[in-house]
Amino acid sequence: MFSHLWPWPLFSTTDAMIIFGTRGVKSTINTGEFNCPQCAEQKAYRHRKVTQFFTLYFIPLIPLSRVGEYVECNQCKGTFVPRVLTAQLNPSEEQVQAQYEIAVRNSLIMIMLADGVINDNEKTQILTILNGIGKYEATPAQLEAHIKKVQEENLSVSNYLSKIGPMLNEHGKEIVISSALSVAASDGEIDDSELRLIFEMGVAMQMSKTHLRAIMEAPFKKAQQN
Ligand SMILES: [Zn+2]
Repeated sequence: MFSHLWPWPLFSTTDAMIIFGTRGVKSTINTGEFNCPQCAEQKAYRHRKVTQFFTLYFIPLIPLSRVGEYVECNQCKGTFVPRVLTAQLNPSEEQVQAQYEIAVRNSLIMIMLADGVINDNEKTQILTILNGIGKYEATPAQLEAHIKKVQEENLSVSNYLSKIGPMLNEHGKEIVISSALSVAASDGEIDDSELRLIFEMGVAMQMSKTHLRAIMEAPFKKAQQN
């Protein structure tokens, strides 16, 4: 209706073809290995950033702003906030607590398995200890599943305890050793294999041998008499 106001076209046909816009372009800042929350294992990652570019004819020409960053797991392709990398360097109190619970639980299970016999009293003792230190009530069925896992993993106690040793003070380490002694004793006698394993636990937590002997003195003397 206003076309009569425009005596000539504003743009030539070629000018009208200029197409510009913006587009997010992904690039990799860094690569490495991280503990993927989704795979629950150590996997390779790419730390990616997305930059908004001014585009001309769909070609990114001028970077405008960084719009986002994420960490992508090469295995499951899951994407996570970059904090996932630093969180692992500075574990939160909750993560430390979880690591501690797993380490103690698995070591106690190994003590129970050391003499080759699984006794109901030992299971009850482990559950009592775990429910004393843990955040959640552990059930007998859960314990059975953990026992199975420890048997399958077939690791040494130092695999479980060497990480938590530096987080514990001497008193904390004593609690772990006393707990292990109480599990070992709950089937009526402390076996040599159990004692050796408990000693190994202390060494894994970097306790001095003198300190360890002091805590274990009574059962040690008993073992030497046998
Ligand atoms: Zn993954």
